[in-house]
Amino acid sequence: MTDPTVSPTGIRALGREALAFLLAATCPGCDEPGTLLCDPCRGRLQASPVDVRTPQGRVVRAALTYEGVAARCIRRMKDDGETLLARPLGTALAVVLPSVAGSAVSMVPVPTSGAAFRRRGYRVPELLIRRAGVRPLRALSAAHARRDQRGLDVSARARNAEGSVRARFQGAGARVILVDDVVTTGATIDEASLVLDRAGFEVVAAVTLAATPLHGRHSAFTSDPSTTRRN
Ligand SMILES: [Zn+2]
Repeated sequence: MTDPTVSPTGIRALGREALAFLLAATCPGCDEPGTLLCDPCRGRLQASPVDVRTPQGRVVRAALTYEGVAARCIRRMKDDGETLLARPLGTALAVVLPSVAGSAVSMVPVPTSGAAFRRRGYRVPELLIRRAGVRPLRALSAAHARRDQRGLDVSARARNAEGSVRARFQGAGARVILVDDVVTTGATIDEASLVLDRAGFEVVAAVTLAATPLHGRHSAFTSDPSTTRRN
């Protein structure tokens, strides 16, 4: 079948544009030119789950440790607008989303601040849930402009997270899994869980794409400032 609206010339032009786009791309993991993500770096995005405990004692399961290739890919997606990377990263997230087959559990994204949404034009946790093949339930919204969490210690992060989210509707006992992109201390997860509890949701688990290697959680931790989270 031929589409009368697209001429062979048009298709060639599209092909040239796609080729130019690809040639201008570099792998976020290793800077190899001409690829959005090379095969070895794609392999480094295989989920390798790690559990993190929040200040309130909740367990958060993260698919990846926020370092090396994974950290560079996440930064490229979050800060440089490379949303195509949400596909392989969403595949990693899918590994830690507890199996929901046959049960009524919804995936609730941690909300993105208005400023971050305006800067990016997309909400990172929500995009990741979609790329993991699940429809997100937007039960939370950002309540106030939260300060950048970078450089804050555990207690400062907890204070900063307080009042940062609110429920958009009542849960009436609905079972939900809280999903964020990167967990650092877990203060944001604690705050979001508390708000969901109070609104009548039952938070059955919390998962993230990645966990920053802090507090000696991982022996490989080095004080690399590039692993600091940007909200
Ligand atoms: Zn690479």
